[in-house]
Amino acid sequence: MATIWMDGKLLPAEQARVSILAHTLHYGVGVFEGIRSYDCGDGSASVFRLDDHLQRLEDSARICGLKLPFLLPVLRDACVEVLAANGLLDGYLRPIVYQDDARLGGLGSSPPVHVGIAAQAWGAYLGEDGLKNGIRTHISAYRRSGLGSSLPKAKITGQYVLSTLAKREAIALGFHEALLMDDDGCIAEGSGENLFIVRDGVLKTPPTSSPILPGITRATTLHLARRGAETFGVSEIREEPITRGELVTADEAFFTGTAAEITPIREVDLQPIGKGGAGPMTLALQKAYFELVRGRSAAPAHWRTPFGALVR
Ligand code: PMP
Repeated sequence: MATIWMDGKLLPAEQARVSILAHTLHYGVGVFEGIRSYDCGDGSASVFRLDDHLQRLEDSARICGLKLPFLLPVLRDACVEVLAANGLLDGYLRPIVYQDDARLGGLGSSPPVHVGIAAQAWGAYLGEDGLKNGIRTHISAYRRSGLGSSLPKAKITGQYVLSTLAKREAIALGFHEALLMDDDGCIAEGSGENLFIVRDGVLKTPPTSSPILPGITRATTLHLARRGAETFGVSEIREEPITRGELVTADEAFFTGTAAEITPIREVDLQPIGKGGAGPMTLALQKAYFELVRGRSAAPAHWRTPFGALVR
């Protein structure tokens, strides 16, 4: 039975319940994060960029006018505690901030804010084969809304409706993942991943001024690409919008995300990208990413939160 951290207590999952009347369930004002910890292979493990994820959680909450009922250091300890309680080294953490006072209020009510943190094992989000050989994607008719009609910089529960429908549609059509355009018709991102393409050594990803979530894996990938430009064959890095034409004529394309890690894209709507498999720069960046998160290469000190000693 999984153990959940709820408002400061560790509870068996069956007791970690919210009310059917919870405001967040009805209206979608809640914020969350997806965080991974990695087994470093020597009995120790570390949570990757925990402070950055918790900072984004707090930013998302502030964007929604929610005040976190716990300080970030408390949530930081709680994340480690819940991994330990579930006996996980390689783990996926899901903190969620929600409003609930077990009464049906209207839109204007603002019930108390709560925090729950779940942890579970979660292997390759888009499949082991996807990590190795690339995945097949579908450009959805659902769009990633722009700044005028949504809050794309925040991870808000209610904002995942269109990405969920886009992803389900892509799977029903036989693809692995959806791509969503922005209001200008450029390809913004996946349902839960940022997008990169490579052409003639130029690595390109939409800028954070686009309606994308400013992904932490996106930032880590840019860091790796800058640090090892020569090794990876990166001649230039551009943060610019990506058109459909650029995507289908790219040499390589890949997704980045905490869950997706670095997953090659081998096809868009039945058109192969490059040679129709995982590209060499993608695989080199993926290897460097796994070395980084598993503690086998240098990283800024605050990127890793070790916790091996606490695991029971
Ligand atoms: N875009 C969206 C819409 C997402 O949900 C995610 C996952 N959090 C990402 C991009 C990737 O962000 P990160 O690398 O921080 O996980």
